[in-house]
Amino acid sequence: MAKIILTGDRPTGRLHVGHYVGSLRRRVELQNSGEYDKIYIMIADAQALTDNADNPEKVRQNIVEVALDYLACGLDPEKSNLFIQSQIPELCELSFYYMNLVTVSRLQRNPTVKTEIKMRNFETSIPVGFFTYPISQAADITAFHATTVPVGEDQMPMIEQTKEIVHKFNTVYGETLTDPDILLPDNAACMRLPGTDGKAKMSKSLGNCIYLSEEPEEIRKKVMSMFTDPNHLKIDDPGSLEGNTVFTYLDAFCKEEHFERYLPEYPNLDELKAHYQRGGLGDVKVKKFLNHVLQEELEPIRSRRKEYQKDVGYVYDVLKKGSEAAQAAAAQTLDQVRRAMKINYFEDNALIEEQSKKYQ
Ligand code: ATP
Ligand code: MG
Repeated sequence: MAKIILTGDRPTGRLHVGHYVGSLRRRVELQNSGEYDKIYIMIADAQALTDNADNPEKVRQNIVEVALDYLACGLDPEKSNLFIQSQIPELCELSFYYMNLVTVSRLQRNPTVKTEIKMRNFETSIPVGFFTYPISQAADITAFHATTVPVGEDQMPMIEQTKEIVHKFNTVYGETLTDPDILLPDNAACMRLPGTDGKAKMSKSLGNCIYLSEEPEEIRKKVMSMFTDPNHLKIDDPGSLEGNTVFTYLDAFCKEEHFERYLPEYPNLDELKAHYQRGGLGDVKVKKFLNHVLQEELEPIRSRRKEYQKDVGYVYDVLKKGSEAAQAAAAQTLDQVRRAMKINYFEDNALIEEQSKKYQ
């Protein structure tokens, strides 16, 4: 069976380091591994409109921002198909058919959607499109017969929902769709990177982000004002790692070689953590180290982005070509789906003959 990746991001803002460790960094590694037959990376503008219906300009402006972040991180249009969701009408058609296979109560149980509804204060006025976006996400994944979906932990309920739809569809209409697997980051800190304020998740909508395109001075300021252990008041006090954002970020970003370069008195992160917990290690020293680590990781991304920013026309061209190729692939799946669902009336000669005979 072909190995196919589908994943993507909502164009609701520039991408941040949470996206990077949760999914983007992995995508680039998978792309360069050469192990995948096809890689589809989708800018989910239609999904972004489900909770930004009154602000299409925001979505429109951020398409190129997300695409620039992709290219800056090393996604290569020669190897990965970058496309825009709304340009593939087949995805809407597929969602519409899948809606018959999912119950309202099943959608209501989705924990990520529940949290997002609270965050957006939708309460009793949830847009239907937003409520049903897990179904549309199932359409995105299955339209490309994706086998692998590299995403952060918040996407787990979406992949479960997708798998249920695939099983239901294949049971009712015959083996047609491909059952996808989620690919989570292998490091717990990367599954759901907290915001710089220590709050649940770094998220474009919460304003607690370090963006991939951030300038060095901004990165430094954000790191230096990051949430740590509020009870670690004096350097000699023992510090706690639990909920300590600076250490979570080190878990996500730091490699042993960073110690040689920026903090040679410690051989590795375990030793640094042990010292912090014993007492005698100040927050400022740890933050300065994290700043070095982040600056090193983000510098090449920022400078590549600046190069691509000089030719935005090229970026749109990449998305246009990618969208055309993605549309052709989705159209093939829709042919299979229509055939399986027996709604391929005009290519079904047996049906036409049978109906004609009925009235002979
Ligand atoms: P929005 O607030 O508009 O939903 P977002 O910041 O949650 O934006 P998405 O576009 O919804 O970003 O998510 C894109 C991908 O990035 C998903 O795979 C998601 O799991 C991953 N991701 C987003 N935020 C984080 C995070 N803080 N840590 C790890 N992965 C993340
Ligand atoms: Mg999100």
